[in-house]
Amino acid sequence: MGQLFSKLVYVLFGTREVRVLVLGLDNAGKTTILYKLLEPDSSLKHTPTVGFNLETLKVHGLKMQCWDLGGQDSIRPYWRSYFFNQEAIVFVVDSTDKGRMLTAKQELHAILTEPELQGAVLLVLANKQDVPDAARVSEVSERLGLADLERTWTIMGTSAERGEGLQEAFAWLAQRLK
Ligand code: GDP
Ligand code: MG
Repeated sequence: MGQLFSKLVYVLFGTREVRVLVLGLDNAGKTTILYKLLEPDSSLKHTPTVGFNLETLKVHGLKMQCWDLGGQDSIRPYWRSYFFNQEAIVFVVDSTDKGRMLTAKQELHAILTEPELQGAVLLVLANKQDVPDAARVSEVSERLGLADLERTWTIMGTSAERGEGLQEAFAWLAQRLK
């Protein structure tokens, strides 16, 4: 119902508001990515997200309400209460953290089994590509077991630190959500 209304508003007024869940383990770069998209010139450091940040991005006529949920173990069980009516999942991975990629895979696949998220488009960001020994996009894709997913998805490499790959990734998402 919410999505139908939102699509109608888009047809009438040329803007549509969508809900986007930004998830991933702590330290993946979720908050940095959102701030970089909001203020490309800022190099401001921020503290670990406690609870959640809600930021609205405007991309290609879409108003994306981005829910950046804190990633620490202790708050991950609460992610579920934000799942209603979310049209997209942006799952951010720290490509340098090979030791926790299995945990990231398990979290992602657990999220994807949630009934309320069956229709959600998935954008995976292999972040921190600026670090020399970071896993490349193809390796992250393999480690996360993305190949067999039955939904609209893609994976892209990003460097939130340098602001690289972010515009392209969110443009892909906007295109899928229109
Ligand atoms: P969150 O817990 O997922 O919200 O992660 P943060 O956005 O707080 O970032 C965690 C740490 O990773 C911070 O020290 C960031 O400066 C750093 N970071 C985020 N993105 C990148 C990136 O693309 N490259 C590098 N080298 N560091 C990054
Ligand atoms: Mg954060």
